[in-house]
Amino acid sequence: MRHYLAAILMSLTLAGCMSGENLPTSPRGHTGSVGPESIPAWYSKTPTFYAQFRSAVTVSRPSYTSGPFGLRRMSSTMILTSTGEPDHCSVYFCEGMVDPRDPCDPRWCLPPLWPWTPVLGKIEPQGFEFEVPVVQQLWSDTRIGYSHATETGCGPIGIAINGVALFDQHDAEGEDAATESVHFDTFNGHPTPDGIYHYHTNPIYLTVIGLPDGDPTADPARLVGVMLDGIPLYGPADCDGSTPVLERFFHGHYGPTPDDPSGRTWHYHVTLEAPYFVGRYKGKVLGKCLNTVGGLTTEISPNTPEDCDW
Ligand SMILES: [Zn+2]
Ligand SMILES: [Zn+2]
Repeated sequence: MRHYLAAILMSLTLAGCMSGENLPTSPRGHTGSVGPESIPAWYSKTPTFYAQFRSAVTVSRPSYTSGPFGLRRMSSTMILTSTGEPDHCSVYFCEGMVDPRDPCDPRWCLPPLWPWTPVLGKIEPQGFEFEVPVVQQLWSDTRIGYSHATETGCGPIGIAINGVALFDQHDAEGEDAATESVHFDTFNGHPTPDGIYHYHTNPIYLTVIGLPDGDPTADPARLVGVMLDGIPLYGPADCDGSTPVLERFFHGHYGPTPDDPSGRTWHYHVTLEAPYFVGRYKGKVLGKCLNTVGGLTTEISPNTPEDCDW
């Protein structure tokens, strides 16, 4: 991992996207109240926003739902489906100790500390169906707001634009997942015992410019994914290349993004320190994640306890 540090720092200075100079960072203000606060500006631009999810993700919107008296109205959710497999190489497409002279899969690549690290687990295709709200109610960044907000739990807390599940900062024992980083592959991911490939920390394939086998469109300020509360997650930099100043409790802020230069979209940021993605869910979690494997569907609720097998 160490050899990527220089690349990460360098790429932070190269960040660039549409600027939103001199725009307020919190145009709607914080009243300290608990409850509805804002409708993100990108609500009106969802086709453009969701177009950034790649072919690994199918985005659909149940355009109309049945209402009372036979009325039909627009659904307030988007559905993203994915097999959860990364669109980049990973040693976890193989199994056991891997002989580098005989790669078992063209997507194969080395873990950072090979050959001292055994390969634990294997990526298995999943049947994810993330349902996320397009309109949020946001908690204020106060202790009261925080106490109302939903904690992240084990399992997927969001989905990256390349279809990979985003997990929170804890490993299966509730410890900082960075302690597992010796088992992360080249791009900071690894699978659960059930084969669910996921990122806990900076998804460098998407955010660091110029990595070997990396994404040619990688950018530290880009959209990384969307969380179960429907709020977008961006890379470690803001549009002007600066490191964002985040709200104390929730790990995000108002400010310009490549998708909304007006600064009216509250959003999370990837950070290089825990909690990496989300403090608690800033938005009311109206969505859910279903996973269907082998004909069996399980629902991953937003606050699944940490003491699970992952
Ligand atoms: Zn993990
Ligand atoms: Zn930002």
